Amino acid sequence: GGTLRVVLGDQCARDIASLDGLDPARDVVLMMEVQAECTYVPHHPQKIVLVLSAMRHFARALAARGVQVDLVRLDDPANTHSFRGEVLRAFARHRPARIVATHPGEWRALQDMLGWEEAAGVPVEIREDTRFLCSLPRFRAWAAGRKSYRMEFFYREMRRETGLLMDGDEPAGGKWNFDAENRAALPKGLTPPEPPRFAPDAITREVMDLVAARFGAHFGAVEGFSWPVTAKDARAALVAFVRDRLPLFGDYQDAMATGQPTLFHSLVSTSLNTGLLDPMEACRAAEQAWRDGQAPLNAAEGFIRQILGWREYVRGIYWHLMPGYARENALGADRRLPGFYWGAPTTMRCIEQAVAQTRDLAYAHHIQRLMVTGNFALLAGIDPAEINAWYLAVYADAFEWVELPNTHGMAIHADGGVMASKPYAASGAYINRMSDYCGGCAHDPKQSTGPRACPFNALYWDFIARHADRFAANPRMAMPLRTLAKMDPRKVAAMRAEAARFLAALDA
Ligand code: FAD
Ligand code: SF4
Repeated sequence: GGTLRVVLGDQCARDIASLDGLDPARDVVLMMEVQAECTYVPHHPQKIVLVLSAMRHFARALAARGVQVDLVRLDDPANTHSFRGEVLRAFARHRPARIVATHPGEWRALQDMLGWEEAAGVPVEIREDTRFLCSLPRFRAWAAGRKSYRMEFFYREMRRETGLLMDGDEPAGGKWNFDAENRAALPKGLTPPEPPRFAPDAITREVMDLVAARFGAHFGAVEGFSWPVTAKDARAALVAFVRDRLPLFGDYQDAMATGQPTLFHSLVSTSLNTGLLDPMEACRAAEQAWRDGQAPLNAAEGFIRQILGWREYVRGIYWHLMPGYARENALGADRRLPGFYWGAPTTMRCIEQAVAQTRDLAYAHHIQRLMVTGNFALLAGIDPAEINAWYLAVYADAFEWVELPNTHGMAIHADGGVMASKPYAASGAYINRMSDYCGGCAHDPKQSTGPRACPFNALYWDFIARHADRFAANPRMAMPLRTLAKMDPRKVAAMRAEAARFLAALDA
C-alpha cells in the first residue's frame, strides 16, 4: 500500500510537510470537510466559506498536478463529520501502509490525531509544521527556564536567525523596534486606499450556498465574501498591500476610524493562517520595499514584527502552555458575554462600530480587537471562556493557536501576565485619542459619572480599584494606582457606584 497523506483545512500550502516525498502513483491525499469543525463554536459563515473554498481550490490544484485527492465533502451522506471517523473510512477505501499528517494548529485536533494510529492500526507520522519560522522545539528551547516570556526578546532572536532587517549583526536602522513611531491617529481627510476584493468564482459560490443553507443561523452572513481562496490571489493581495498601504502601515497601525474598517492594514492573516501565503514571503516583500525606498523602516519593521515576532511567539506560547493555559482565569472574571457582542443595540459607538464590521466582514483590525471589544471584556470582567469562544467564532482568521493567546493573554489578562507585563486596560480617553468614534457617540469620553458618562471611564477605575492589591506588586501599574490614590474618595465612590449600576444593567 501507499501513503495516506492528510491535509487539514488550514494547511492548504503547496509545500505542506505531509506532502513531502509524495509518490503520485501510490499515495492518496485526504482532505475532510466535517461538520464538527464548522460548529465547535458558531463560526462566522465567511470563515467557513474561506476554509472550505480554500480546501476545494487546493484539492483542484493538486489534482491538476496528477495527485490523487480524496476530498470528503460536507454534504456527502456517508460523512461521519469527525476527523477520526473520516480517516477510518478513508483507510478502508485506500488500505494505505501508513498515514502522514502535519501537526495541526489546535490542541483539540492534535488529540484527535493522536488517536488515529490505534484506530487504524498502521503507523501515523505527525510532522512538524514547517510553514512556521520557529519550530516548536526551537520555541521550547527559548522558553525553557524563563518565568515570563517577553515577545521582544524572542523577536530579536528571530531577526538574528532569519537575517530579516539585519545589517550584519546589527538591526537595520540601529534599532530593533520602531513602535514608538507607530501611534498616530488618522488625520481628517486622509482616506486609505481600498484593498483589493476577490469576487467569488463558481467553486466559492457553491460553498457559499452550502454554508448559507447549513450555518445561516450563525452571526454574520456569506454575502460580501471577498477573501483570497487561492495562493495566486493571496499573493496579489500581498503585492497590493506592499504597494498601496505598507508605506503608512506603521504610522496608523493603532488608529481607528468610523467607516474605515481596514485602514492601512494588510488583510493577510486569513491567507497566512490557511496556508495560502507563506509568512517568510510576506516578510521579505516588506523588507524589499524598504530597501528599494518604497516604504519607511518603521512600516517595514512594524509589519515584520507582527509576523516574525507576534505571530510566531503566540503560536509558541500556545503549544508551550496548553492545555492548562485555556483554563486560567487570573482575574476571576465570571460575567456573561453581553448581547451587544452579537449585534444587540448598544449606545457605545466604538463597540457598535467594531461589532458591525465584524458581522459584515468577519474582520476587525488589531486595535479594535484589543482596545475596544477586548478592553471592554477586561474591564467588565467577562468570563474568559465566553470571550474566547466569541473571538474564535467571529473572525475569519481565527484559529485557536493564534486567537487564544491574543485574547486570554493580551486582551483580558486571564493568564495573569505570562504574555503581557500589564493588562491593556484603558479608559475612554485612549479610544478618543486613537479614533473619531466618540464624536458620534451618545457618551462623552470626558465624563465619568452622570447620564452622558462614557462607560469605559467608570469601568476603568473600578477595574483598577477592584484589583488594586494584585496590581500593587506590578511596577508597570504604579501610575494608575498612584492616580487612584490621589483621587477624591467621593469621586472614586461615585465612579464605582456608576460602574456597579452599569454592570448590573448589563447582567439584567
Ligand atoms: P496586520 O495589522 O496587517 O498585521 C500583519 C500580520 O501580522 C497579520 O496578518 C497577522 O498574521 C500578524 N499579526 C499581527 N498581530 C498579531 C498578533 N497579535 N498575533 C499574531 N499575529 C499577529 N490574529 C489572527 O490571525 N487570528 C486570530 O484569531 C486573532 N485573534 C485576536 C484576538 C485578539 C483579542 C487580539 C487583540 C488580536 C487577535 N489577532 C488574531 C491578532 C491581530 O489582531 C490580527 O492578526 C490582525 O488584526 C489581522 O489583520 P491583518 O492581516 O490586516 O493584520
Ligand atoms: Fe466608546 Fe466612550 Fe468614545 Fe462612546 S465616548 S465611543 S463609549 S470611548
